Amino acid sequence: MDHIENDEQFQGLSVNKGTSEQPTINPYLNSFKKFKRKTYSVSEYVDGIRKGNISILGQAVTLIESSKPEHQSIAQEVIEKCLPYTGDSVRIGITGVPGAGKSTSIDAFGMHILKKNNKLAVLAIDPSSELTKGSILGDKTRMERLSVEKNAFIRPSPSAGSLGGVARKTRETIILCEAAGFDRIIIETVGVGQSETAVHSMVDFFLLIQLAGTGDELQGIKRGIMEMADGIVINKADGNNIEKSRLAQSHFKNALHLFPLPESGWVPKVLTYSGYYEIGIDEVWNMIDEYIAFVKENGYFEHKRNDQSRYWMYETINERLKNNFYNNTVIQKELGVCEEQVLNSQISSFAAANKVLDIYQKISK
Ligand code: GDP
Repeated sequence: MDHIENDEQFQGLSVNKGTSEQPTINPYLNSFKKFKRKTYSVSEYVDGIRKGNISILGQAVTLIESSKPEHQSIAQEVIEKCLPYTGDSVRIGITGVPGAGKSTSIDAFGMHILKKNNKLAVLAIDPSSELTKGSILGDKTRMERLSVEKNAFIRPSPSAGSLGGVARKTRETIILCEAAGFDRIIIETVGVGQSETAVHSMVDFFLLIQLAGTGDELQGIKRGIMEMADGIVINKADGNNIEKSRLAQSHFKNALHLFPLPESGWVPKVLTYSGYYEIGIDEVWNMIDEYIAFVKENGYFEHKRNDQSRYWMYETINERLKNNFYNNTVIQKELGVCEEQVLNSQISSFAAANKVLDIYQKISK
């Protein structure tokens, strides 16, 4: 075939002889079957996890994330058997808006943690992951150094379901990671919305990453998020950003003075650091160690963990009740009918709700 691109006038462009088109069906596909993942029994999962086998741990987490009832029942058994081996850890929540430098910082914090002979699991809660399939947070490629370390386990956000469901799965994953010997757990989330509350309810220390702005950096930060923070750190305090970061630091310190002393008795600290240039990483980590020692001493550590266990019990009950209700086909039909009646002003919203709930009570007896 003649290629016009090869003409003198298109000098610099040439068409090479190509290779023949590959068949779309891979003739070797059948032979791959033997590589199919082995499935394990509950005790094999538990043994593997206890021995710190990362691949078995990863597969068990996949079961937690699965919505199939048969996977869920194995997962629940594995979790229960792992439970006695958990708790001896430090759980840290890290939040900050996209671009604040969470992954760069976690990579740096993580390397610091590993140097101290700790084992680190990085999990994520990403409320947007239903759309992005969990690729925004916890992605291995975002933590280049950590991802090749054998004492680090990185897992992106579970992607399916409501925030409550996603958070519960992460809470359960913590249990497996701790049973596998990971004694430092980082839970990462984006600082935009409800997910901080979920993260706060499963960690010992909550770290808020901020950036120095133009002097009005306190704008746009929800008061609730600042109140949850046990430490606020201003990232990118490097180069000609150092002065601005110090200014932001004093703004945050002043703002924190306006809040009442948290229940823990710990006065949140504000530090500046640079995740990228690894300036001030020690100080950030010393602050966390100091906090843990402080709350272990005054009993708040234990108190908060108990509160969290209670919270997750009720969260799980609520989630299951809600799922059972809304997934019931009789209820789904009834809801459709009632909704229409409400919209046509034939029945009040409250009467409609009570009617559907009564039906549910009857059919679930
Ligand atoms: P994330 O979205 O919060 O996870 O943020 P990333 O860690 O992906 O960082 C966002 C951008 O900020 C990247 O281009 C990083 O290279 C840059 N960055 C992160 N930390 C620092 C830092 O300490 N100093 C400077 N100058 N840039 C940083």
